[in-house]
Amino acid sequence: MKAIKIVGAGLAGSEAALQLAARGWQVDLYEMRPGKMTSAHETGNFAELVCSNSLKSILPSTASGLLKEEMKLLGCRLLPVAEKFRVPAGNALAVNREQFAASVTRLIAENPNIRIHRQEVSQLDDELTIIATGPLSSENMTEELLKLIGNEHLYFFDAIAPIVDAESFDQKIIYRKTRYDKGEADYLNCPFNKEQYYDFVEALNLASKHEAKEFEAKYFRNIDFNFYENCTPIEELSRRGKETLRFGVMRPVGLEDPKTGNKPYAVIQLRAENKAGTSFNLVGCQTMLKYGEQKRVFRKVPGLEKAEFQRYGSIHRNTYLNSPRIMNEDLSLKAKGNIFIAGQLSGVEGYVESILSGLLVAEVVSARIEKDLVLSPDFLPETTVSGQLWRHMVKEVENFQPMNANFGLLPELEEKIKDKKKKKDLLAARSIKDLHKKL
Ligand SMILES: Cc1cc2nc3c(=O)[nH]c(=O)nc-3n(C[C@H](O)[C@H](O)[C@H](O)COP(=O)(O)OP(=O)(O)OC[C@H]3O[C@@H](n4cnc5c(N)ncnc54)[C@H](O)[C@@H]3O)c2cc1C
Repeated sequence: MKAIKIVGAGLAGSEAALQLAARGWQVDLYEMRPGKMTSAHETGNFAELVCSNSLKSILPSTASGLLKEEMKLLGCRLLPVAEKFRVPAGNALAVNREQFAASVTRLIAENPNIRIHRQEVSQLDDELTIIATGPLSSENMTEELLKLIGNEHLYFFDAIAPIVDAESFDQKIIYRKTRYDKGEADYLNCPFNKEQYYDFVEALNLASKHEAKEFEAKYFRNIDFNFYENCTPIEELSRRGKETLRFGVMRPVGLEDPKTGNKPYAVIQLRAENKAGTSFNLVGCQTMLKYGEQKRVFRKVPGLEKAEFQRYGSIHRNTYLNSPRIMNEDLSLKAKGNIFIAGQLSGVEGYVESILSGLLVAEVVSARIEKDLVLSPDFLPETTVSGQLWRHMVKEVENFQPMNANFGLLPELEEKIKDKKKKKDLLAARSIKDLHKKL
């Protein structure tokens, strides 16, 4: 049989290549570096970590730690390499990035089933292909993908608002209502009085921002103005004038409190992130504030004084697809079934999540060629973070955005548990038990 082509030897592409090679398949792995670099990579090594050297927590009582436990059970290839080159960082799996990437590169180079091609791929053909070109996919590849899926389904950067845990809301303050009661009351509203509003604006104006790295700054200068306007960080809007937010994203009209009839001075709306309504994002609050500052400032929002953050906001260069619209359940393209998508491009966010996606795509490609089977997310229990990330990539939602591991993805426990630590431990134990049963 012909070889499987993988484009991009980043985290997802490297994991997929090693997985498929271990199953005995021939792999042609294409990587454009070092001949053509991205704006963030610095070496020609595979699986280079472009920013932080941390693969986050190893504690199973954290979502990222649980995801790693699941991935170990699924036979992940890159995590053992990360563990081998671990550096001290408390409960986090931080690595010596040079040794990690060099070791992955060596493992791939020495694998007799993998042929390495140091060249950019800019055209897609009819061969079985996994595209894992990442958030910094080359322009040529981006254009080729655009031809297949259309402009409206490819995004160039992420403007993410924080996501908070619904259990941490003050229900006495927050109320459910849509503007002018039009349609379903899907939104929760955090009402501000005058004093609270100006206090919040001042806090936003004084909070410190994440400093853009050189490549990010270059990116922000180059992007199309209108495109950027839609995703302007809330702190930038508030700096334009004290009233800007009140007449924009925090507009209170049509949002009177149904219980009291009170008209708020300003409102922040919360939109559900999942069907169970356990996680909500702060609408219009995409931000570049430092994480600690986000916690401090957004806890000033009435009703969010004790907010638990499941994901912080950010804005960064990130090419990704509207995957649920353009991908089949087995991560192949609807427009061209021989093309599979993996890594950050496919709607996961983060190093470990991208490795997971490489592992999953190898699983579906193997099933397709070996048994002519089309796998779906039901391959993994919905109580697992890995299974839910897969579902996130293929189940249609409004405002699709890449997702990282978080407990908000998991269905609630049957029993209501108040103690947060205990709840996370139980969610983790359920996931591992269910995954064991399935494998
Ligand atoms: C600037 C930046 C910083 C980030 N920092 C973090 C962080 O600190 N922590 C975290 O968890 N996540 C971070 N991420 C998010 C994400 O987890 C990483 O980008 C991750 O590496 C994504 O994995 P991937 O395999 O999808 O892509 P990558 O690891 O980027 O791999 C894609 C590979 O494809 C190659 N390629 C691109 N186009 C072509 C082509 N046409 N032909 C051949 N090869 C091609 C690239 O050279 C690259 O090697 C960051 C993302 C960015 C953009």
